[in-house]
Amino acid sequence: MMNTNIKNEIPYKIYLTEDEMPKAWYNLRSAMKNKPAPLLNPGTGLPMTAAELEGVFCAELVAQELDNDTPYFEIPQEIRDFYKMYRPSPLVRAYCLEEKLGTPAHIYYKFEGNNTSGSHKLNSAIAQAYYAKKQGLAGVTTETGAGQWGTALSMACGYLGLDCKVYMVKVSYEQKPFRREVMRTYGASVTPSPSDTTAVGRKILAENPGTTGSLGCAISEAVEAAVSTPGYRYVLGSVLNQVLLHQSIIGLETQAALDKVGVKPDIIIGCAGGGSNLGGLIAPFMRDKINGDLDCRIVAVEPASCPSLTRGVYAYDFCDTGMVCPLAKMYTLGSSFIPAPNHAGGLRYHGMSSILSQLYDDGLMEAVSVPQVEVFKAAEEFARVEGILPAPESSHAIKAAIDEALKCKETGEAKNIVFGLTGTGYFDLVAYQKFHDGQLDDYIPTDDDLAKSLAKLPHLG
Ligand SMILES: *Cc1c(COP(=O)(O)O)cnc(C)c1O
Repeated sequence: MMNTNIKNEIPYKIYLTEDEMPKAWYNLRSAMKNKPAPLLNPGTGLPMTAAELEGVFCAELVAQELDNDTPYFEIPQEIRDFYKMYRPSPLVRAYCLEEKLGTPAHIYYKFEGNNTSGSHKLNSAIAQAYYAKKQGLAGVTTETGAGQWGTALSMACGYLGLDCKVYMVKVSYEQKPFRREVMRTYGASVTPSPSDTTAVGRKILAENPGTTGSLGCAISEAVEAAVSTPGYRYVLGSVLNQVLLHQSIIGLETQAALDKVGVKPDIIIGCAGGGSNLGGLIAPFMRDKINGDLDCRIVAVEPASCPSLTRGVYAYDFCDTGMVCPLAKMYTLGSSFIPAPNHAGGLRYHGMSSILSQLYDDGLMEAVSVPQVEVFKAAEEFARVEGILPAPESSHAIKAAIDEALKCKETGEAKNIVFGLTGTGYFDLVAYQKFHDGQLDDYIPTDDDLAKSLAKLPHLG
């Protein structure tokens, strides 16, 4: 095959040397004119104080969570050393995909699947485990949906010698037994959620017998376990400001690599569940866009079955089903929203990071939703030419990138498209199997479905 796009020296993989790796995370909030809304105490309706948050989260992470102004946070040497085991991650020029599509567009993807957990989540897991260890804690609790976050956190805790208790959404626990075994290999204990080990889990089970669980339920259980066990704190793998801060390593590396080859992105695309990979990927580019230094579209891609940006409302909501967490202002479908059980593609959280929600509301970011059968078709097309077996979540971004590249084919424009390939799909083969056997459908929630969960938004006043 002759690729007509190979006319300059841009290599297939653009790497950074160890010296060129970022030494600080970038805090996108520092560039935002309209800051993300603060977390509120559900009891008082007032912004959560550091002291209140420190009952649930590690102190240093609380400081990062509340800081809207400091642009850079130095990455501690121990974390930089850990990053060196699997970073820098490659930025790949998708020559083979371009050829297959016959597009004049130049497509790049930042691949975060090169570690055992198989996703970008390890970038924040090691940071959160590090601060917990530094604070002298015995362990951490968390929830996991598809299992990537739980795996990443288990790896980080195993490395640092911290105990790790994972509440895993029941449907995933049953569909992904191998994920569970990876977590146990790294020393974590794994409980299907909702469970009878917490008061909130027992309550949810009593109200919805037979429920397959949701991230929101698992979060409530993990928070309860943390606050009721001495020496434990809760950690979260997405949504929070601190997580987007740690994930900025993705965008900083991407920008440094593109600078090396003199490329400016025209379109940046990322899948959006809670918003952490996208928030990290876009961090330095969004700063440049806000400052008028970069003219670039930024696109969030979400599943049509869990469309928080494209069909949700921008309001204060609970972060969890059990309503034990602070309120966050975000695009949300309502904390009681649970995607259809046949939804196989991850990204099943009801809300969206407050940072991304504010940027979207300000018109600085676009959002599209895509149905899952199309997502798996894009995944397969990508796998066959680029080699990597993508995670279903990541494949939402692939689908949108292919659509943009095909538009370029019509207009003849050689746009630079950059997308986040957040992980690999080895643990998602049940979903691939359903796709191959024609058992996936596109259940898209009706307006009535959404109205039911939106009716339960908290009333502030
Ligand atoms: C968790 C996960 C996502 C979605 O989470 P965000 O916080 O929105 O980034 C996307 N891709 C993969 C592979 C994941 O594991």
